[in-house]
Amino acid sequence: MTLQLHDTAARAVREFTPIRPGEASVYLCGATVQAPPHIGHLRSAVCFDVLIRWLEASGYRVTFCRNVTDIEDKILRTAQAGGVPPWIVAERNQRAFTWAYDAAGCRPPDVEPRATGHIPEMIVLIRRLIERGHAYAGGGDVYFDVRSWAEYGALSGQHLDQVRPAEDADDAAAKRDPRDFTLWKGAKPGEPYWETPWGPGRPGWHLECSAMATKYLGSSFDIHGGGMDLIFPHHENEIAQSCAAGDGFARYWMHNGLLGLSGEKMSKSLGNSLLVTDVLTRVRPAELRYYLVQAHYRSLLEYSEEALDEAVAAYQRIERFVTRASEVLSRLGMGRPGMGRLGLDAAAGPEDELPGLPVSFRSAMDEDLSVPAALAAVHACVRDGNQALAASDKAGARASLVRLRAMLDVLGLDPLAPHWAGSAGSSGSAERLRDVVGSLVKLTLQQRDAARARRDYATADAIRDGLDEIGVLVEDTPEGPRWELKR
Ligand SMILES: [Zn+2]
Repeated sequence: MTLQLHDTAARAVREFTPIRPGEASVYLCGATVQAPPHIGHLRSAVCFDVLIRWLEASGYRVTFCRNVTDIEDKILRTAQAGGVPPWIVAERNQRAFTWAYDAAGCRPPDVEPRATGHIPEMIVLIRRLIERGHAYAGGGDVYFDVRSWAEYGALSGQHLDQVRPAEDADDAAAKRDPRDFTLWKGAKPGEPYWETPWGPGRPGWHLECSAMATKYLGSSFDIHGGGMDLIFPHHENEIAQSCAAGDGFARYWMHNGLLGLSGEKMSKSLGNSLLVTDVLTRVRPAELRYYLVQAHYRSLLEYSEEALDEAVAAYQRIERFVTRASEVLSRLGMGRPGMGRLGLDAAAGPEDELPGLPVSFRSAMDEDLSVPAALAAVHACVRDGNQALAASDKAGARASLVRLRAMLDVLGLDPLAPHWAGSAGSSGSAERLRDVVGSLVKLTLQQRDAARARRDYATADAIRDGLDEIGVLVEDTPEGPRWELKR
């Protein structure tokens, strides 16, 4: 089976056929950085991170571009309310987003362009649209003429007469049609602006994505993604701008479902408690990622404390097996299996495209990234592995562990991945670290005993002093030496 993806434009699941064989170009609408991220923002990032990982695991060379909207009405309002320049608001919040993406184990994009760094590209695009008769200047703004583009409304499934007026101009009097949307906004006093042939101003939100997507991925590229709330007007307008200018633009449109709050009281305090930084005081990053990943990416994910707790418990079941199995196997000298990119071992045949991954997992992922079905394969593998451990079937446990880690790697959820180790992320790896320190101290004390036995007291004292220096206090008791870390 080959990869099938739901294409919003086709309203159907279509086989993924890239423009260039073996390559995949992906553009994702990133954050408008007017506030720090909540877990709804993170859901979009995590869903598309799984897409990127699956494309890569399937052998595609991926180019991934995710933009940052760093100039926009909401940023200007936040800046004004806080009495700081807009670029401080943008910079601060962009850092908060980057931190949250990293915390959740999202692969960084190959390029992360900011709108304010691409004004010349936007000016060129406006000029092309005006020359082709699809845009016009008026009252200091520049508008897209929706009646000039017959396919306007196709993505969101609307006829032009159903489309609501665009509410993006302060003074719509200059518009030829109330549905015409703003490509360029004339500057108001005190606002940041750039000079253009049509007067000083700043870009409209939709224009920047068209300009940046084609700059980095070409006039035609494979996949454009974003949240379902962006289908209209944002993506509808991106298509109109780019296609009316003569670009092929995106060939597949993928949209993730939103994070719903209907089950919870919609209060400001709940809104704040869903900030990524706040949620991460209650659950670990890998557990939050599991929660965001486990539902199908197109479904609405209704937030509740119980659902989050269930996800945490499910992730910990997986984690417990991975930690236990790797400890048992390493004690037996069977090594920590699965250290490769996909957790592969030598048993995998060279002709096997995705060695280590069960067929049920692959076909689930190929079927429009059906993570719930893929996770069923994950949990079945954990059950098999636990049974093997209980039966002291080491070879069986090892096979399960290798298979499991290969699947978890695709979902970005392998508890032993370096990303989770060392972060506040994995209690499993913290425990392992403590075990290793304990073994090292024990080894050192055995050498001290050996030195004493051969009456080499200078060496024995040097070992004790050395341990003391790095903060390990040793006390000799009738039952043998005991040690603890100095406080
Ligand atoms: Zn966008």
